[in-house]
Amino acid sequence: MNPPDEQRRILIFAMKLGYQTRAFDEAARKLGVELVFVTDRCQRLDDPWHDRALPVHFEAPEEAAYAVMQAQRGKHVDGVLAVGDRPALAAAYAARGLGVTHNHPVSVEACRSKLRMREVFRDAGVPVPWFRDVMLNATPEPALLGIEYPCVLKPVSLSASQGVMRANTRKEFLAGAARLKHLLDSAEIQATREPNLDRMIVEEYLPGREVAVEGLVTEGELRVLAIFDKPDPLEGPFFEETIYVTPSRLSRAEQAAVEKSFADAARALGLMHGPVHGELRLNERGVWPIEVAARPIGGLCARALRFRMSDKDEAIGLEELLLRHALGLPGKDARREEQASGVLMIPVPKSGVLEEVKGLDEARAVKGITELEITARLHDYLAAWPEGSSYLGFLFAKGETPAYVEAALREGHRKLRIEITPRLPVEHPVTKRI
Ligand code: ADP
Repeated sequence: MNPPDEQRRILIFAMKLGYQTRAFDEAARKLGVELVFVTDRCQRLDDPWHDRALPVHFEAPEEAAYAVMQAQRGKHVDGVLAVGDRPALAAAYAARGLGVTHNHPVSVEACRSKLRMREVFRDAGVPVPWFRDVMLNATPEPALLGIEYPCVLKPVSLSASQGVMRANTRKEFLAGAARLKHLLDSAEIQATREPNLDRMIVEEYLPGREVAVEGLVTEGELRVLAIFDKPDPLEGPFFEETIYVTPSRLSRAEQAAVEKSFADAARALGLMHGPVHGELRLNERGVWPIEVAARPIGGLCARALRFRMSDKDEAIGLEELLLRHALGLPGKDARREEQASGVLMIPVPKSGVLEEVKGLDEARAVKGITELEITARLHDYLAAWPEGSSYLGFLFAKGETPAYVEAALREGHRKLRIEITPRLPVEHPVTKRI
């Protein structure tokens, strides 16, 4: 008989291997745990230093899970983590097949569909705006659908606010629906083979302040790791993210209401184990979960979070915290450090080819700025929102207070001079008709 396989091992499902998975790799080395990466972008690895990734197709999650189970046959797996929305369902199936504590695939599936999520919330008594499932194949007539204004049009399963638009009038609704159809029909989006690319969800526009919440669920119990304020008004017509700052400046009572609403939403979805990230809005009618995802905060934003087990211990990153949680190691209940911290997801000012970003040194020299990384590649075409979904880069700040951090991020951003050459103007084929 073979000796028992005692190597601790965690599977990380990620779209591509890059800055976020590298942080997991560093934490794993420190903890002496082996990481097995599962990705569907193997042909385009940005990390040649890494050669252990298992290639799968995330759009076929059960097949992907089966391939992973075959590859891990005879090996012990301690945990499964998904980084990003697209890999989450394959991760849930694989965890189930491997007998690893995780979320049920049905819960993850509900997180992946904005429509299903609204149905689950409604049925569980979690506040929801009115919502409609609208096919995009024929021009929808808002009056027949009972649409009122303002409303929000969104794709069912994309992320990062891609394709999300506010409409205040029938004319804007029709233009938005046509624009969304055009986006969903594009070769790039069709290549994702996401389900539901033929429809949209339309819902009531919820005014109010927005926060993002990072949490960790252990056997159904949610612990909130951080509440991020989003100090820029997110009133549309498009909804790209900008500044996140924690700790929140909401009152204690408001923060408690946010935590309760987030926990109710996660419970309604049946999320049982692992990282959760959510967006919620607050107004005089209460707290409204806009979205809950069964994954940690995306992009480079995790770098805004550092945790300490005690005053004496060195701070650890979110990736290490998540590995400790998956392995049941001490430190999984570490608290966020005291300092205020924030990140600016650097917006794409207009679509076009990124020629140059100037002022990097000036931005880095701003007091409070701790890090600046331009993640977009020079000379690549960048799409602005709503068609776009990736930021130009990330700017980080730390300081005594959230107000200081916010001011540093704004000042750092002002120093950047982003040169984008627009492509030759191409009339939008559908919106032109309206
Ligand atoms: P995604 O998963 O693509 O980020 P979301 O449903 O979270 O899509 O929407 C993205 C953003 O759009 C939200 O963070 C919020 O700012 C805005 N938004 C979405 N739905 C509404 C709504 N019903 N009312 C107001 N704003 C909304």
